[in-house]
Amino acid sequence: MQGLMMDYPLLIKGIMQHALRTFPEQEVVTRLVEGGIHRYTYADSYKRMCQAAHALQDMGVKKGDRVAVMGWNTHRQLELYYAISCIGAICHTINPRLGPENANYVINHAGDSVLFYDTTFQPLVEALAPGLKTVKKYIVLTDAANNPKSKIKAEAYEEMIAGKPEAFDWPDFDENTASAMCYTSGTTGKPKGVLYSHRSTVIQAMVTSLPTSFGAELSDVVLPVVPMFHVNAWNVPYSALMGGMKLVFPGPGLDGASLYELMEAEKVTYALGVPTVWLNLLNYIEGEGKTFSSLKYSLIGGSALPEKIIRGYDKHGVRCRQGWGMTEMSPTGTTNFEPVGFYDQPIDERIPYQLKQGKALPYVDMRIVSDEGKILPHDGSESGHLQVRGPSVLKAYYNHDKDILTPDGWFDTGDVATIDETGMLLITDRAKDVIKSGGEWISTIDIENAALSHEAVAQAAVIGMPHPKWDERPLLIVELVPGADADPQQILQFVKDQLSKISWPDDIQVVDEIPLGATGKVLKTKLREMFKDYVLPDLREGGGTTTSASAAVTEVEPDKKKSGFPFLRRKGK
Ligand code: ADP
Repeated sequence: MQGLMMDYPLLIKGIMQHALRTFPEQEVVTRLVEGGIHRYTYADSYKRMCQAAHALQDMGVKKGDRVAVMGWNTHRQLELYYAISCIGAICHTINPRLGPENANYVINHAGDSVLFYDTTFQPLVEALAPGLKTVKKYIVLTDAANNPKSKIKAEAYEEMIAGKPEAFDWPDFDENTASAMCYTSGTTGKPKGVLYSHRSTVIQAMVTSLPTSFGAELSDVVLPVVPMFHVNAWNVPYSALMGGMKLVFPGPGLDGASLYELMEAEKVTYALGVPTVWLNLLNYIEGEGKTFSSLKYSLIGGSALPEKIIRGYDKHGVRCRQGWGMTEMSPTGTTNFEPVGFYDQPIDERIPYQLKQGKALPYVDMRIVSDEGKILPHDGSESGHLQVRGPSVLKAYYNHDKDILTPDGWFDTGDVATIDETGMLLITDRAKDVIKSGGEWISTIDIENAALSHEAVAQAAVIGMPHPKWDERPLLIVELVPGADADPQQILQFVKDQLSKISWPDDIQVVDEIPLGATGKVLKTKLREMFKDYVLPDLREGGGTTTSASAAVTEVEPDKKKSGFPFLRRKGK
């Protein structure tokens, strides 16, 4: 027997309309790309969403068309999020840090018909334009006065919407209609398109709004540092409007000083971003001897949350909650909410809990399986490939012919994890990063966390190096805090002291800069390339166990030095 409830589709326009009728006076604040601050209300924003929808329709954008946006987090991109999706078109956010080759690939692959971009990205767009086969119109996200001279004909966004009606008759359609798309960052192979639907987005916005998920409240002032091109800023542009919170967009100011200034000026209480952002901000406030007057909570995900961040922010009264997810999951799968009374405990007792990735959101099923496909118990010790399913998990990539699900309908995340009896997830590693040594799996995350807790270490990454006896052994690569002159051997010992012997790195190398990928995560593929000729100490000619930081310097090809990536710092030189 079927229920007798209305067939009412879960459409994104419902969020927009709810925001307008329930919180019309709530504020949206943006640090403008042009400089200065822009401030308006949800009601003002709604009018401009209507104007943008008219403009899109007038330029011929139809249901199912892909519309590209390459922009910073701003009120204009917020308007486009809603206007594009709610007329039935697809908002394709593009990560400008993908590099020209991948950007060209994703725009052509998606078949985008219009490209909106911030002035910052004009040189990139001009370089891409001749190769973009489907883009018919370019729009710059600014006003006429700030629209720079360009090789391509591009109208300013403000001109595009000017004079359009401030109301719109939003269409109804099936809730499974595509709403937005985001390509994976392509660290291995070509980027792949993930195509979200209205239903998957609304469900994700609802579940992440729970107190046990992101946990933001009406009184919060929310700052998504996570870019709107990184899995729709983890859906904050939807969940914040659903919850009626004041939203603050950082525009292009993502460095420590700019973020701090904006947080203080707008009394931000809650911010979200990847660990590198939080490390940079922490370095900034510690370096300047500042503290936060309003920030209380941070939601951190995208890669493992290091202890250094938890302790560092705790000193400033900021609570860190970890989330785990991926582009293919819209993106959030788990959040590590705190049990009642958690913050009454001393920090040392809290840390082991906070380092875990948390428990599944409603409608996210998780399981772990062995290499052979055997389903493993959730006992906190068996570790296996993490697979998921749910209404906000993809079933196929866009225009991609491979079947990606297991025969029984699960998606393999590529992560290796344990799950305990209470459903607590602990990511050990990415399957492609985990170090297989003498039949055991070594977690690179554990070693990186141990290294990051050293005060002189700004960034740490571990990669597996080939070893004839053990298959692979860990090499620890660190970037030091500016001005720090720590002895690498002392750091190595500090790391070993925290780990079981099998996880002891065989060597440590200091680099000027650990390369970061398009979403601010450590780019291990690049590190592997940088260290491809590196030889572990006990395999060097003559054997021995010297682990001097300068040992590999001579092994780095000279042309790589020019590429702006490493490099290995010789102590005292
Ligand atoms: P990409 O890294 O290619 O940009 P995603 O942003 O979708 O793609 O990254 C998803 C991956 O990031 C996950 O599969 C996982 O390996 C890693 N990740 C995300 N959050 C966490 C976390 N809290 N702890 C550890 N790893 C994480």
